[in-house]
Amino acid sequence: MSLPGAGLPDSRAATVDLHAHSTASDGVYAPRDVVRAAHEAGLAAVALTDHDTLGGVPEALATGAELSIRVVPGAELSTRFGDREWHLLALHVADVQGLDDRLAVYREARLARAERIVGRLVELGLPVTLQEILAESGGGSIGRPHVAAVLVRRGYVADFREAFDRWLGAGRPAFVDKELIGLSEACDMIHEAGGLAVLAHPGAYGRRATLEPMVRAGLDGLEVRHPGHAPDDERRLTNIAADFGLVRSGGSDWHGSPDGHRILDSMRVPHEWLEEQDERVAARRADRR
Ligand code: AMP
Ligand code: ZN
Ligand code: FE
Ligand code: FE
Repeated sequence: MSLPGAGLPDSRAATVDLHAHSTASDGVYAPRDVVRAAHEAGLAAVALTDHDTLGGVPEALATGAELSIRVVPGAELSTRFGDREWHLLALHVADVQGLDDRLAVYREARLARAERIVGRLVELGLPVTLQEILAESGGGSIGRPHVAAVLVRRGYVADFREAFDRWLGAGRPAFVDKELIGLSEACDMIHEAGGLAVLAHPGAYGRRATLEPMVRAGLDGLEVRHPGHAPDDERRLTNIAADFGLVRSGGSDWHGSPDGHRILDSMRVPHEWLEEQDERVAARRADRR
């Protein structure tokens, strides 16, 4: 390729991935390795969006600076609206420490929940210890995938799928509810930290009538492109985003294992979507002044 300015990444043609997990929560790779992988995949930007933590963001930002790839500071919050759990991405967080501090209480609740899951599993005849799960989480935000990994290692199940289908999934015998942040409160927290509140993978639940009150609660955007979406979800969500004045987002939800389409850059999210988000962030911050 011989373009003017060859050697510089052409951000117009480039793609971004705005949803990825690391060892700060239930991902396989350390934050620096997530950013390295994003760089090797040729991405112009990657967002680190660990569950209820920004603990990996400083390391990811440092690696991004070394490798000249943009890192978007983020997190994925487990929220409640109505009678459902909705995942909410915080993207473009300015006050990383401030938002992380406010999420500490939810990480503590995840620990208490893991203890209850252990109790259930022991009763069910699958002895595991909290220590094993803590070791699996490596000090990061604890989730069911850490429990699933222990069940696999102990030979109680063949793989993650069986761990969730038989024991850990919603309605299964070792399922324990998670403490959820109210959606409106979560949007306020994100805005106070200078970020955008983007509803993660709404999928088939993302209908106009359902989303309208959520927009009034503070949503800035919709993750319209995600590996869990059916073919018509993106089209419907894109129309809803346009009508409600929401920004679009998209990402692979990569956790580091080669599971299906959840690999970095599999969603081929155009750089323009990130530019739209940058404009929205700038507008939000100007409003707050
Ligand atoms: P938690 O945050 O503890 O509720 O765990 C939710 C995480 O578990 C999700 O973000 C996924 O990474 C993973 N997960 C949920 N359901 C499944 C499943 N059926 N198979 C594999 N992983 C799953
Ligand atoms: Zn996860
Ligand atoms: Fe999610
Ligand atoms: Fe995720």
